[in-house]
Amino acid sequence: MPTSSAALPAPSQVLQLLAGAEALSRERDLRTLFRLGAEYAMRFLDGRFGLFFQVRFTPPELTVGLLGCCVSDGADTHWDDVAEAQSWLPVDPLLAVCLHADHGHAIEQSGDIWRVAFAVGALGDARWALEIQTPRKPSKTDGEALSLFLRCFENVHRQWEYANLDTLTRLLNRKTFDDDFDRLIAAAELAEQARQQPQDRRDPGLKITQPCWLAVVDIDHFKHINDTYGHLFGDEVLLRLADLMRQSFRNHDKLFRFGGEEFVIMLRNVSEDHVQPIFDRFRMAVDRNDFPRVGHVACSIGFTRIDPRFSPAELLGRADEALYFSKEHGRNQVNGFDTLIMSGQLRLSTPAGQAQIQSDVDEIFL
Ligand code: GH3
Ligand code: MG
Ligand code: MG
Repeated sequence: MPTSSAALPAPSQVLQLLAGAEALSRERDLRTLFRLGAEYAMRFLDGRFGLFFQVRFTPPELTVGLLGCCVSDGADTHWDDVAEAQSWLPVDPLLAVCLHADHGHAIEQSGDIWRVAFAVGALGDARWALEIQTPRKPSKTDGEALSLFLRCFENVHRQWEYANLDTLTRLLNRKTFDDDFDRLIAAAELAEQARQQPQDRRDPGLKITQPCWLAVVDIDHFKHINDTYGHLFGDEVLLRLADLMRQSFRNHDKLFRFGGEEFVIMLRNVSEDHVQPIFDRFRMAVDRNDFPRVGHVACSIGFTRIDPRFSPAELLGRADEALYFSKEHGRNQVNGFDTLIMSGQLRLSTPAGQAQIQSDVDEIFL
């Protein structure tokens, strides 16, 4: 194990880093990519504590937001995502040093701990920074080896974006929704189980106790916008609407462009009382926004609770029915499928509705 700045990493450590690069190249889940990146870097440097930051440069301000942190006792490494709303902090001097070099890294001693910071990305274009705190002094070669590993992370992340993001809006694309729906609603399933179990039998490790929701958003009279102002300004409306979505929803909510002027939103862990106001707040943000050249734009929304017993197509069908109701009743409004059914404004006519009745009947008689 290297102890001085001239020492080379041990072959076993290099092998482990290569194994990390191989694991990254196989990974399809974004959060896992960050976790693997941090964990392998921690192991390589015998780190005790690691922080993965997102970097934001809005000249002249350079700020970072914490994405997750990693803790190790030397044997086990534990990673925690920062799921809730991100706060942006000024960069600490060590991070600033690494961010001012091309794929740079910087080392600083603080008591008996060494802090090592890495810029993940090229000079002026680093999107992330990783800080590792370790009790052993890292060598220059350690830093260089880890910088190369983090370039692998960058490349894999770029491929992930290419495969999963819509090229115009950079929201998640339709393919990601189709591919990952099962994984995305696993959280909904956990929530449903937690809700159905009596309080005393609940697993204390289960943090999600509120339902998940699926909404379809469709821009009102978009064809008219295209016909009047041209496709370029139509595209600009799509871009601005995507930005408003990113501002209105939380980091861990899933935002998709489904195609054309149709968007899908998945909310996790939101109570029944809050869901309508959340979607209304977004609808009003669109309603109030001044779009370049076009001016006023409105959208209609339909949503449904994610009941894990139903297929993606059935759930989308329910949200679509609620959206259709919004369109038919004046547009620029939000409606929830379940409320429409309960109030008798919509009748259960879809296979999804029949499936629910059937499974409810099954539950009573089995
Ligand atoms: P409604 O209020 O009922 O939703 O009416 P609408 O005009 O929004 O709906 P319609 O489905 O008739 O028209 C959607 C239009 O969206 C038609 C198509 O030209 C346009 N469109 C689809 N994809 C894109 C795109 O990527 N860019 C632009 N600019 N327009 C698009
Ligand atoms: Mg439309
Ligand atoms: Mg449409």
